[in-house]
Amino acid sequence: MGEATTTQDFDLDAIRQDFPILSRTLPNGQPVTYLDTAASAQKPRSVIDAESRVYQEYYANAYRGVYEFGAQVDDGLEATREKVRALVNAASADEIIFSPGTTMSINMIALGWGRSHLSAGDEVLVNVMEHHANLVPWQQVAIQQGATLKYLPLTDAGQLDLSQLDDFVSDRTRVIAVTGMSNVLGTVTELETLAAKAHSVGAILAVDGAQSVPHEITDVQKTGIDFLTFSGHKLYGPSGVGILYGRRELLDAMEPMAFGGHMIAEVYRDHSTWAAPPAKFEAGTLPIAQAIALGTAVDYVQQIGFPAMCGHEHQLLEYAHQRLTAIPGLKIHGPPVEHKGAIVSFTIDGAHPEDLAQLLNRRGVFVRHGHHCTMPLHEWLGVSATVRASFGVYNTVGDIDALYDALEFARGKLRLT
Ligand code: PMP
Repeated sequence: MGEATTTQDFDLDAIRQDFPILSRTLPNGQPVTYLDTAASAQKPRSVIDAESRVYQEYYANAYRGVYEFGAQVDDGLEATREKVRALVNAASADEIIFSPGTTMSINMIALGWGRSHLSAGDEVLVNVMEHHANLVPWQQVAIQQGATLKYLPLTDAGQLDLSQLDDFVSDRTRVIAVTGMSNVLGTVTELETLAAKAHSVGAILAVDGAQSVPHEITDVQKTGIDFLTFSGHKLYGPSGVGILYGRRELLDAMEPMAFGGHMIAEVYRDHSTWAAPPAKFEAGTLPIAQAIALGTAVDYVQQIGFPAMCGHEHQLLEYAHQRLTAIPGLKIHGPPVEHKGAIVSFTIDGAHPEDLAQLLNRRGVFVRHGHHCTMPLHEWLGVSATVRASFGVYNTVGDIDALYDALEFARGKLRLT
């Protein structure tokens, strides 16, 4: 396999040049091999420029001013809302709410929707694969409301065991909260099956799209997703901004989690009424420049196109599996490549993940180690930590070769034979 994938639709060299950070070298002259896109993606120049342009050319607070800059900011924010609507195929841009990120979006659902829709004896269906962001808020609301968390089992391969779905969904199930793609195993979940099952008992499907939205085509209407959450920073966009999508009827029937300016219709001395969505859920000042630049990030991925991007990332995934499984004692956790996104979490017999990550860093290979905010999953895996290499649109087969070589270097240092 060559260094770069260049097809008519996908020019990897050109893409890499879009990301200024990828051409920098470390103080010792080494190039950087960035394999931590699942934690946060690097930013193309267009996104960096868009954010900076807001501050340099027309910055003002949003939804407040009648003057020129204010109007430009409002237009920029509404343009992003429309681009995100198209990205996930929501029915209306009013269903797209800006938030600080996935974590806050999920809290908005669990607390805003959960507190008014869950009562004693109701059930929330989760599973051990979930990121803490999609587990702890549901635990909290379940404790407050007297509801029960049920865990849909995983198969040995690390996929949801859908053959047991009927046993775990009952007429007390109110919500299925699930990731679109595991941030550790890479497992892609079968959302349509879950949506159909949830809806058959009058429950809703809330999807944590932090990993899936940047790497897969998302269609909330076709799939039957009721709530969807994701973060700008994993979609090649700025940090500090994320999205909560909710079906309009659900947003209308849901309480806001935060109260204050902009989210009200009328304020009286002793009570207030709420604005219509999305303002209802956007109390206070938004992350203005970040939200505008998120629209540029959406343009960026749309211009490359999801089929080309997914195809490239899948090629990398297959190559990584092929190379890494040749390393003695290395185990990749999770399903085979056809059921996962471009994330490879592994352990090596006799090596602590932190030591491996440190030694890889000495070779300029940036990976993450630890429990990746999934303690119940690591307990299920029977390991306290894993090393995770994750790929983005800009990675190359050369990056995977660098990972392989750095792992051989680490094995040598750790005297693993
Ligand atoms: N869910 C998943 C699957 C994630 O990978 C992450 C980020 N690691 C989150 C939720 C939380 O995202 P954020 O920190 O941007 O709120």
